[in-house]
Amino acid sequence: MTKTQETVLEISLSALEHNYNFILSKIKPDTKFLAVTKAFAYGSDACKIAKKLENLGVDYFAVAYTKEGVELRNAGIKTPILVLHPQAVNFKIILEYNLEPNLYSKKILEEFLEVAKQENKSNYPVHIKFNTGLNRLGFTKEAIPKIITTILNDNTLHVQSIFSHLAASEDLNEKKFTQDQINEFLKIKEEIEKLLPYSITTHMANTSGILNYPEAHFSMVRSGIGLYGYGNNPEFDKKLKPVATLKTIISQKHILEPGKSIGYNRAFIAEKTIVTATLPIGHADGIGRQYGQGKTFVEVNGKKALIVGNVCMDMIMIDVTNIDCKEGDEVIIFGQEQSAEDFATTANTISYELLTGISSRVKRALI
Ligand code: PLP
Repeated sequence: MTKTQETVLEISLSALEHNYNFILSKIKPDTKFLAVTKAFAYGSDACKIAKKLENLGVDYFAVAYTKEGVELRNAGIKTPILVLHPQAVNFKIILEYNLEPNLYSKKILEEFLEVAKQENKSNYPVHIKFNTGLNRLGFTKEAIPKIITTILNDNTLHVQSIFSHLAASEDLNEKKFTQDQINEFLKIKEEIEKLLPYSITTHMANTSGILNYPEAHFSMVRSGIGLYGYGNNPEFDKKLKPVATLKTIISQKHILEPGKSIGYNRAFIAEKTIVTATLPIGHADGIGRQYGQGKTFVEVNGKKALIVGNVCMDMIMIDVTNIDCKEGDEVIIFGQEQSAEDFATTANTISYELLTGISSRVKRALI
C-alpha cells in the first residue's frame, strides 16, 4: 500500500463489499437489504458508496434528509431512496427526485398527501414509521385506523412499507425491552395487514438488530454502521472490515525539555525530555479537543504515540520519544490496528460520532 503524503480518509470499497456480503449472509435470501447512507455514508463518501452497493444489488437506500437523497439521484443512483426525516418544505423536491418519505405523524402525512395531490401523483410510495419505544419519531398503534382511512380515501399514496427502529439492539442486557419492541411491531404489522388490500414491506432491524435479533428481520433490514465495518460487538467486529482509515503525516519534530509546554493553554508540560511530532489534522477536521486528554494514541511506524496537549484547530501533537520516525512519515489515526470504535472510546464517544464528524476538509480517497 502506498504511503500517504497528506491527511486523507481512505475508503476501501473492497471492505464495503466484504461487510455487505457478511451482513447478507445473516439474513434470509428473500429478505431485502436497505443500506443507510446518511451523513455522507457515515463520513465516507455517500455517492461512491451508494454506487458500489447499487452494483452489488442492494434493494433500498435510506438517508436522513432530502438533500442527501437529491445528491444520490444527481450521482445517478436509481435504487429507491427512503428519506427518514423529511421536512414539509422539501415535499416538492421529494416528488421531483422520486424520493420516498417517512411519514411519521398525522401532520406530516396530511401535508405530504396535499402536495402529492397538487402534483397529480397516484400510488406514490411512502413509508409509515411507528414508535415502539425509542420515542423519537413515529405513530403509535392507536393511529392505525386513521392512517389507513386517510391513505385509502383516494389512490394518491401507496404504503410501500411500515417500519420501526430499535432503541437498544446492541445491548444484550436490554433483551426484554427489545423483545417488547419487536412484539409491539408484530401487532402493528398484523393490524395494518388486515386493513390494507395489498402487501407491504416491513422493517425494524439496524445492524445490531440484524446480528442479535433474527426475529426482527421482517421482510427488510436496514444496515448502516455494519456496512462501514463496525458491529457494536467484539465477535462481529472481528468479522467486519473498517471501510475508513484516517491517515496523516508528520509535519515537524520538536525536542521538549523538562518544564517546557506544548500547544495552547500550556495544557501539557514535559516532566522529562521528550520528542514530539506535529500532525496536520485538528478539531476542524473532526478530531475534537476531547482527544487531547492523555488517553488517545495514534500509530506511527507500527508503534503507539500518545496525543499530548490540546488538540488545535488544524494540528495535533504526539509523543514520539521512543519511535524511529521523521518528517513526512505516515501516521494512522484510526482504521487499522486501532479501530474507529477504540479510538472513539478514549474520548467517551462512539464510532458513529467520530466517523460522521470527519469534516469535508479531509480529502476522501478510494482505495
Ligand atoms: N434505521 C434508522 C431509522 C436509523 O436512524 C439508523 C441509524 O441511525 C439505522 C437504521 C442504521 O443503524 P446502524 O448504523 O446501527 O445499522
